[in-house]
Amino acid sequence: MNEQDSLHMKGLLSRQGYLETKDDGEADLVLFVTCSIREKAVQKVFSDLGRVRQRLEDNPQLLVGVCGCVAQQEKENLFKRFPFIDLVFGPDAIKNLPEMIAKAKQEKTKNEKVRILNTQFSSQKDFEFINLVNPHEEESRIKAFVNIQKGCDNVCSFCIVPRVRGREVSRPSQEIIQEIKALVGMGVKEVTLLGQNVNSYGLKDRGELQFSELLQEIANQTNLERLRFTTSHPKDVGSDLIKLFGELTILCPSFHLPVQSGSNRVLKDMRRQYTREHYLEIIQQLKEIKSNMAFTTDFIVGFPSETEEEFEETISLLNQVGFDMSFCFAYSERPGTAAARMPDRLSVAEKKHRLDILQTRQKQIALEKNKAREGKVEEVLVESFDALKMNWAGRSRSNKIVHFPQEKESVKEDLTGKYIDVKVIKANHFSLMGEVFNESTGFRRIHSSEGDRTYN
Ligand code: SF4
Repeated sequence: MNEQDSLHMKGLLSRQGYLETKDDGEADLVLFVTCSIREKAVQKVFSDLGRVRQRLEDNPQLLVGVCGCVAQQEKENLFKRFPFIDLVFGPDAIKNLPEMIAKAKQEKTKNEKVRILNTQFSSQKDFEFINLVNPHEEESRIKAFVNIQKGCDNVCSFCIVPRVRGREVSRPSQEIIQEIKALVGMGVKEVTLLGQNVNSYGLKDRGELQFSELLQEIANQTNLERLRFTTSHPKDVGSDLIKLFGELTILCPSFHLPVQSGSNRVLKDMRRQYTREHYLEIIQQLKEIKSNMAFTTDFIVGFPSETEEEFEETISLLNQVGFDMSFCFAYSERPGTAAARMPDRLSVAEKKHRLDILQTRQKQIALEKNKAREGKVEEVLVESFDALKMNWAGRSRSNKIVHFPQEKESVKEDLTGKYIDVKVIKANHFSLMGEVFNESTGFRRIHSSEGDRTYN
C-alpha cells in the first residue's frame, strides 16, 4: 500500500517538475512514507528523521514532509518532536500534495515557519481514488498495483490500520477496469488488486459489484494476462471466490490469506471473526480446486495471554496447511488498540523464542514445498537480468521467484516482460533455480498466458 502511495506521490510530483534522486544531499524535498503497523517501523522513521535534520544545515530551503500512517497517528506531535518538519499529512490527503507543497515553498522562501497539517479523512462518499496512469509513459512496466479499495471496517484487536487508514471505501468498478485497460495498453501483463481487505470489496458501499464479480469483469473486459490480489480476510472468502480459481485462467494460483493464529481462543481475542476450522475448510476447498496453489499467510506470536499450548496450535496449523511462505511477527503493542489494554503480556524473550520456532519450521516447510517443484516446468514472467550472475529472474504463476541463466544463443535478446518456460533444477528456501525448457524444438516461449501447465 505504501509502495502504491509512493508511486502516486511520485506521479503528482513529477507533474510539478520534481525528479527523483537517490542522493538525499541533492534533494529539495524529502518525503517519508511511513508505516505504523509495528513499533519497530515507527522507531525507524524517528531515527531517519533525526538524520535528515543535518541536511537542513547545508540547505535551509529543504522541505521535509512525513506522510502515511505515522503521520496520521502522531499528527501535530510530530511537529513538537521534530520542529524542522514542514508537512504532516495522512493517506487521504495525498491528492492535495501539489497544493501543500506550493504553500510550503512559498512560506519557506519568506522565511516563515512552515507547519502544514492535513490528517482529515475524506468522507466515504467523497473519497477519490488517484489514477495517474499515463499511456505515454516512457518507462515500460510489466507489473502494476491497482487500488480497488481503501481503509478497513474490521476491528482486529491488535491492529491500528482502521485508525490510520479510515473507513472502507470501494472504488467504482469501471474506474478499476479502465485503469487496467490503460495499463495493459502500456504493456503491463500482471496486475495485483490492492486493498486492506479486498474480498469485502463492494459489500458495504458504492462498489456496485461484489469482489468475485469484479474479478470476472476484469477477465471479460480486459486483455490482462495475470491477475492477483492482496490482502484478503478469511471471513469474507465465499464459495464464489473459491470457484473462480477453477474458472478464470488469468487468476494466478497463489493466495495470501492471513490467519494470525491457530488457536480459536486467541483468534477470538484478536476479534478475527473466524475459527481455525473455518480457515482450514477454505484452504481445503482451494486445494481441491487447484492442487498446485501456493499459500502464504501472516502470523502473530506472543499475543497477550497466548499460552504455550495455544502457540503449539499455531505450529500445528502451519504444518497442516503447509504454507509456502509466511510473514511471522512477534506481537507489537499499538497505541489505542483493544489488545493494548489486555493483561498478561509475554516477555520479549518468550515472544522471540516462539517467533524463532515458528520461523524455523516455516523455513523447513518452504524448502519442502519448493523441492516438490523440482523437475516441473513453470511459466515465468521475466522481470529483470542480473548482469553479474548472468541470470534472468521472474515470477511463476504461483508467485515463486525463479532464476535461470542466460542462454548463449539468446545473448542479445531482452527477455524482460516475456513468458519463458523454465524447468526447475534446484529449490532454495525462497526461490527456484532452473533452466529454459527445451521441448525438442529448442527455445520455447509463450506470448500469452495459457493457464497452468506442468511437465515432468
Ligand atoms: S482486517 Fe487487516 S487491516 Fe483490517 S483491522 Fe484486521 S488486520 Fe487490520
